[in-house]
Amino acid sequence: MSYVDEVLAKVKEKNAGEPEFLQTVDEVLNSLRPVIEANEEKYKKQALLERLCEPERQIKFRVPWVDDNGQVQVNTGYRVQFNSAIGPYKGGLRFAPNVYIGIIKFLGFEQIFKNSLTGLPIGGGKGGSDFDPNGKSDAEIMRFCQSFMTELYRHIGPETDVPAGDMGVGAREIGYMFGQYKRITDRFDGGVLTGKGLTYGGALGRAEATGYGIVWYAEEMLKYNGDSLEGKRVAISGFGNVAWGTAKKLTDLGAKCVTISGPDGYIIDEDGVNTEEKWQCMLDLRNSGQNIVAPYAERFPNAKFIAGKKPWEYADADLYIPCATQNEIRIEDAKAIVASGTKYVCEGSNMPTTNEALEYLQSNGVIVGPAKAANAGGVATSCIEMGQNAGKTVFSAEQVLDQLHSIMVNIHKACADASMKYYGEYDLVKGANIAGFEKVADAMMAQGVV
Ligand code: GLU
Repeated sequence: MSYVDEVLAKVKEKNAGEPEFLQTVDEVLNSLRPVIEANEEKYKKQALLERLCEPERQIKFRVPWVDDNGQVQVNTGYRVQFNSAIGPYKGGLRFAPNVYIGIIKFLGFEQIFKNSLTGLPIGGGKGGSDFDPNGKSDAEIMRFCQSFMTELYRHIGPETDVPAGDMGVGAREIGYMFGQYKRITDRFDGGVLTGKGLTYGGALGRAEATGYGIVWYAEEMLKYNGDSLEGKRVAISGFGNVAWGTAKKLTDLGAKCVTISGPDGYIIDEDGVNTEEKWQCMLDLRNSGQNIVAPYAERFPNAKFIAGKKPWEYADADLYIPCATQNEIRIEDAKAIVASGTKYVCEGSNMPTTNEALEYLQSNGVIVGPAKAANAGGVATSCIEMGQNAGKTVFSAEQVLDQLHSIMVNIHKACADASMKYYGEYDLVKGANIAGFEKVADAMMAQGVV
């Protein structure tokens, strides 16, 4: 049995109840085969892959809080500190009712490679809670965030572990957590959290960064294939921070975003989600705490709401960009996307495509930009924010976004080069895994058995 197969079998046995984690490990390790085979003896002796798949530390804690009726509620908090070979653990916090250790581990594992791809010195981590922010009052959100940080603070720090936002955690939640951290520790450690407000250390451009980065990555994919974004019709899913930044940058670069979506269904807007008013509407929908997109069609009567469906059935797009959540593109969706005749899918959300759907898309000639490369602009800008905080300075929006743009161009090139080198073909999915892995593997080997 090859070393990769041996490790895959062990990981499956050990983490049987965590399908999302197994999904990403399976996808990543399989694509690393040629690299592992070239170094098999050395890596096996050092148990490199076993170490890579085992988080350095996992923290699980009780988060008690009092709701507006005076009732005590209890949630579970998590922080998985996955890999610190190339820098302090870095990755967001997700607050969503379906959060359990398998989700945090899949996100943390992906984060290792994503952060490595940025070329910046950040390791991989992720955290969150099964707390559902939808329908909660502002005071409840604050009390929850304070309770969450009352435990988390002892495990994080600007040189140790730097959380940020993810689904359910935006600038408001980061603000409440930062305030509580500062109160408990009596330190203004600006770089302990990223995604902060602009008045207390946040980076200009961080809010837009993930979406902008995705579109810049897509632009590189199209360019490489002799194409451009100009005039392209783009179907995206989601309506949160990632979808918002994506819709804005698509418009900037001359493409037209024609769909957005929520758990209730999707919106078709043939005029384009392309005005300040429409982007503001996305923010309003997010802030409503209802988690629905239907009201967009009431506000903009030319738009249509399709209840209970996903935008992958929309056949008239040149490019599809999932920006909602994991496994939102399943095999039936991949079939619809292939049937549309499109050439491109660029992943915005983390692991939006099941392995079966990914295989179907790629074997039918669709070029896929993988999330760990395409959405790395968010965490890259977080690292720029850490640098700004450490240097006691403030960067201009232009400084941040110019750096972000060149990071995205470099990531695309690293992915393309790595897949060419090991597979002799342009496969960004494999290339991203390989390019991300090589740097981490080298650092782990250099640092001995730790
Ligand atoms: N949650 C984002 C991600 O998936 C950003 C993480 C960060 O800025 O640390 O990469």
